Amino acid sequence: MSGSGKPIYKRVLLKLSGEALMGDLPFGINPEVLARIAREIKQLTATGVQLGIVVGGGNIFRGVSTSAAGMERATADYMGMLATIMNAMALQDALESAGVAARVQSALLVQPAVESYVRARAINHLQKGRVVIFAAGTGNPFFTTDTAASLRGLEIGADVVIKATKVDGIYDQDPAKYPNAVRYQKLTYDEALEKRLGVMDAAAIAICRDNGMPLRVISMNEDGNLMRAILSETVGTLVVPGDAK
Ligand code: UDP
Repeated sequence: MSGSGKPIYKRVLLKLSGEALMGDLPFGINPEVLARIAREIKQLTATGVQLGIVVGGGNIFRGVSTSAAGMERATADYMGMLATIMNAMALQDALESAGVAARVQSALLVQPAVESYVRARAINHLQKGRVVIFAAGTGNPFFTTDTAASLRGLEIGADVVIKATKVDGIYDQDPAKYPNAVRYQKLTYDEALEKRLGVMDAAAIAICRDNGMPLRVISMNEDGNLMRAILSETVGTLVVPGDAK
């Protein structure tokens, strides 16, 4: 993608799931994938779009599955949040290597590794053209980084929350299990909630719905998708207000 064209958004909150950083690896961070994502983000910020990123941790540690295996849920969730900080630091490093100024702000205090989340400071970074990576989710166990993305998106006054994952949108059933699954181009928050489509958690969708925040789900595995999402309305699935049928 050339980078020509005019972005339809001024400020974007991108949710990058941990899995988006894995590539073909069974877990962890794939440096090539990270470098590619950094290049895509560089193209995007070159258009003047201000970018906040909430990064997940599922490629390293997911609290809910570990608690199912016997660990106390809150403990496992704090560990999950720590995993997101590692991803955030790796992403910051890749961005800085690509020549993109980036800061990490964490909802859990881990100074001196990264800054703590301060809303006004985050907005200040964005206004200066720095990418802000929000780490440690909401800072609370029993939540997810999807919910953090909706919250941070609202807090920074983003025009849209874009969820980039390994699935290229929202389907009527799990496309990994059902080959006949059909992707929605557009659906309402209520439809997304009622159908329990599973691509984003219910709390995250409800926060977007209640505050009129548009939400787009795209795949991070396709080159140039991020740019397409900010230039046009045709990639992935768009979730918008409206009455459920
Ligand atoms: N987590 C949490 N509170 C939050 C965000 C995340 O407890 O506000 C924990 C939770 O255990 C979760 C893990 O961090 O499983 C990783 O986040 P998530 O599953 O959202 O990452 P993703 O699926 O996007 O990679």
